[in-house]
Amino acid sequence: MARTKIVATIGPGSAHSETIRRMLAAGMTVARVNFSHGDHAAHTKTVAMMREVARDEGKPLAILGDLQGPKLRLGHVKAGGMMLSPGDEIVLTPHPGQPAMIHLPHPDLIAAVQPGSRLVIGDGEVEFTVAEKRGDTLRAIVTVAGLLESRKGVNAPGTELPISCLSDKDREDLELICDLDFDYIALSFVRTAYDVEELRALMKNRPRQIPIIAKIEKSEAIENLMAIRDAADGMMVARGDLGIEMPPQELPLLQKRIIAVCNDVGKPVITATQMLQSMVEHPRPTRAEASDVANAILDGTDAVMLSGETATGKYPVEAVLMMKQIAEIMERAFPYDQWRRSHLMPHFEGDITEAISDASCTIAEEIGAAAIVSTTLSGWTAQQIARFRPRSPILAVSPSAHTQRRLSLVWGVETLLVPDFQDTDTMIQQTIQAVRESGLEPGQRVVITGGVPFGQSGHTNLIKVHTV
Ligand code: PEP
Repeated sequence: MARTKIVATIGPGSAHSETIRRMLAAGMTVARVNFSHGDHAAHTKTVAMMREVARDEGKPLAILGDLQGPKLRLGHVKAGGMMLSPGDEIVLTPHPGQPAMIHLPHPDLIAAVQPGSRLVIGDGEVEFTVAEKRGDTLRAIVTVAGLLESRKGVNAPGTELPISCLSDKDREDLELICDLDFDYIALSFVRTAYDVEELRALMKNRPRQIPIIAKIEKSEAIENLMAIRDAADGMMVARGDLGIEMPPQELPLLQKRIIAVCNDVGKPVITATQMLQSMVEHPRPTRAEASDVANAILDGTDAVMLSGETATGKYPVEAVLMMKQIAEIMERAFPYDQWRRSHLMPHFEGDITEAISDASCTIAEEIGAAAIVSTTLSGWTAQQIARFRPRSPILAVSPSAHTQRRLSLVWGVETLLVPDFQDTDTMIQQTIQAVRESGLEPGQRVVITGGVPFGQSGHTNLIKVHTV
């Protein structure tokens, strides 16, 4: 079992119960439903099927709904596309059906760009620089030549768009995500903490607040990284769009920075996009892809993500297995001691959970504990323990199935579901019972953390060393 968690995007290549069963066995811990594709009926069916398979297999699979966000796209381009050469002059219009112009159905974008602004199409196959604004049209010069095709994505690096990062479609998708009780929501094109707060406010009348993963894919998000981190429950290094918004040569350092700011406070972080891209077509990854997964783990990512590899690829199970095998090898070589030394209480401000989490890792290291066992309602203490990357396994014991599933995204945390605790004695007894049943040998020592009295989230204040 790898300690690094694996997020797999579900699509036509994987949305079948047998494939999901095999992906779970191979190491998938989080299934991502991408709301850029598919309709509500299909998503409802897929979620029900995945829950059933996870229940059958006894695995706490978390389900993450990824909102499309205000993805900008070109309109219709003539059949077969339009081949553009460097220096070509083009006109972009928000109105469809203008034969000599290119349809860009986003008046907000046209209003926001300025002469000199860049428009990057698709993955950077084509690029324009705006030369002039003429009423509601743009005259632009082709700077990167290529084939322009219908519905390709459009990015305007550095241009601030005065629009919400929640489109009408996102709001409808959010209703479904809440109705189906997803475990996480990923918010695309986040620019400021306000974007995260706007999404949270839309859930305030719901019985359960779904944790929000802020996708970092805009240059503005990099400028506001700390505030977004504080507002969100986790982050995703969304390297696809981030690598268009920012120069790709800057991505490796940005990835390290985004991961580090999440590690600092114990919020989960996902490294995403093109990790094993060649496995869409091939049963083995390239050497560079294997190294990419390995390096994200050394950076401290909680989870690595598969997109097209599992959504539409030919080898979804093999891609998950490959990630798990890379993770297992890297975790044997992980610099646990060095990590602990450099992450010792970086922000300690009298927080008891943080102090207990740190101390439990120190004690576990000193006594060679077989596990650090965290009794946790919300999962927060387990996250704080994981942040110190202890060598000992982390076992979160919780009466909450939601918490159990949510921890499927957090590095190194295994979970056990137990009946509800009524008092401290039952909490300790049930935890010890659960630990015995988890396969630990008599004589092995474990470090137990918990909160007394139990039942209030965020009140961890107890450490006990117990010999099984
Ligand atoms: C990304 O841009 O890297 C990403 C994960 O987002 P999406 O797949 O929604 O484009």
